[in-house]
Amino acid sequence: MDEVTNTGLVDFHCHLDLYPDHEAAFRDAEAARVFTLAVTTTPRAWRRNVQLAEGLRYVRPALGLHPQLVADHADELPLWTSLLKETRYVGEVGLDGGPKYFRSLDLQKEVFRHVLRECAAAGGKVLTVHSLRAVAAVLDHIDTFLPRDRGTVVLHWFTGSRSEARRAIDLGCYFSVNAAMLANDRHRDLISTLPLDRVLTETDGPFTRSGPRQAVPADVASAVGALAQLRGMTPEAMARTVNANLRALVQ
Ligand code: MN
Repeated sequence: MDEVTNTGLVDFHCHLDLYPDHEAAFRDAEAARVFTLAVTTTPRAWRRNVQLAEGLRYVRPALGLHPQLVADHADELPLWTSLLKETRYVGEVGLDGGPKYFRSLDLQKEVFRHVLRECAAAGGKVLTVHSLRAVAAVLDHIDTFLPRDRGTVVLHWFTGSRSEARRAIDLGCYFSVNAAMLANDRHRDLISTLPLDRVLTETDGPFTRSGPRQAVPADVASAVGALAQLRGMTPEAMARTVNANLRALVQ
């Protein structure tokens, strides 16, 4: 992804290691020439993801510790820290304030603070961040612990308000948008107001669907199509815009 040279599609948040056949998932993303950020949910998964992405031109692994898993995997935080120097890409990280995870929210905040501080100290990292039912807290953390010139945040599946989006934009955040978000009226409305130079696309596969099956990176074309229609552009022009945004983000 550091050598984005064409107008290929971008799936900036996909769990390639959670499909039934991991090797095929990596291989297919590469064959489809979709620039794919392979996010991980625990640092223990890192090595395997690095192996699977080795030699691939279109796929990069990201080092994560998913907020929904923090309650059971916080002990892997030292491992996460020791691996950070190996990658530019971090995620999935963030906060989840939903009813199932609310009880671990204090621990999630402790972990997220640590992640942001380490990224700020290292500099130049790109993070894909989960903020479900915790948008204000996520933005507070970014504001406090990751200065704009020390790293870049991509808000994945952002569901906040317009004023929260405004604040995120002022903090320098990007937004990765998927087809499920674009099928929801409230989210469409919000997405229609985002600055075009801050928009990326994602599938969040395998947690979203494309018809009867799990979505794969190549299905990000449907997000590009819906986004293009929403913004009154051709799909090709939107694909070029997203690709240029990725280029700006990684350079
Ligand atoms: Mn995800």
